[in-house]
Amino acid sequence: MSLLGRAAVAPRALSHRELVELLTWPDAEELFSAAYAVKCREIGRVVSFRGLVEFGNVCEKNCYYCGIRKGNGKVHRYRMEADEIVREAELAFKAGYGSLVLQSGELTGEANAVFVEDVLRRIHAFCGDEFGVTISLGEQPEETYRCWREAGAHRYLLRIETSNPALYAKLHPADHSWERRRDCLRALRRCGYQVGSGVMAGLPGQTTDDLASDIEFFESEDLDMIGMGPYIPHADTPLGKDAPWTPELRKKHLELGLRMIAATRLYLHDVNIAAATALQALDPEGREKGLLAGANVVMPNVTETRYRADYQLYAGKPCLDENATLCRGCLERRISAIGETILWNKRGDSLHWAKR
Ligand code: SAH
Ligand code: SF4
Repeated sequence: MSLLGRAAVAPRALSHRELVELLTWPDAEELFSAAYAVKCREIGRVVSFRGLVEFGNVCEKNCYYCGIRKGNGKVHRYRMEADEIVREAELAFKAGYGSLVLQSGELTGEANAVFVEDVLRRIHAFCGDEFGVTISLGEQPEETYRCWREAGAHRYLLRIETSNPALYAKLHPADHSWERRRDCLRALRRCGYQVGSGVMAGLPGQTTDDLASDIEFFESEDLDMIGMGPYIPHADTPLGKDAPWTPELRKKHLELGLRMIAATRLYLHDVNIAAATALQALDPEGREKGLLAGANVVMPNVTETRYRADYQLYAGKPCLDENATLCRGCLERRISAIGETILWNKRGDSLHWAKR
């Protein structure tokens, strides 16, 4: 049986070398359709939506690649009021999004922990556990993770960014720690979250071996959800300021992002995989291409339009001036056009998590 055929029938059974072979499969379309077939068999021809609220861009950290890093003095900083966040969550719930993602820059400290706890309790008060609540708020003490879980959050997204600690060290200042980030993923599991992580594809100095190891990391940490996207240089960051960014490179990063989705689906089978917005930043049809390469989740931005331009992690963020309704209509058409059905009003939990 061919490697694609074997990967499709037996989950989590490939060697490192075989993962590299998948990632460099000569016929990309063949790779994507094999992964899509696994997604359809395991999950169905369905897509889950998560309404994304980017509620603040104040960040204590200084990741070298990110546009809202603390050291970028050109960013206008904002933080939405609790009332505003709760209102947007309510709108997303009523619009039929089965789940929500609350994301922001990383803030630690008691005041922030209490602020988030209050928001979560208020959201939980009107929609209970019918509405899947995901948070993505960086590295926190375990007691904060536990408190937010008890206040109503079901899932947590924390990308490891790369599974290679040496490469991680090159992308972050010395006081950012790969081991601490990994330990946070383990703490999240202990607190009872559905745990999601992921990486960026196309980082400077990243090899195909690194990407294969990333997929092995997803398996060894027993993750429920994977969110991956292409790395996109941002001109006001240390990593992006002199980076070449040609149409060929854009194409290469897009393809790498799609290959990572496909190889991850072919290896892990039953996890939720998001088609990241960064894919759409590189190609207007990037997210649909992500779905056709094996992803099953998209995260339409429901943040109020006036904040969106200030939350630019990378250059070329799409949908800056569309309101949530427009975004939704346009996405719905695009998704129906590829023959997929949207799971309105469903939480869309990770199958892998449900089996645990
Ligand atoms: N502060 C939180 C959540 C916001 S950042 C955290 O870091 O976990 C969310 C993700 O954006 C990061 O995990 C990173 O993978 C991604 N990101 C940041 N800068 C990027 C860039 N230049 N290109 C692509 N993705 C980027
Ligand atoms: Fe802050 Fe997250 Fe950006 Fe790092 S990636 S600078 S933690 S927002």
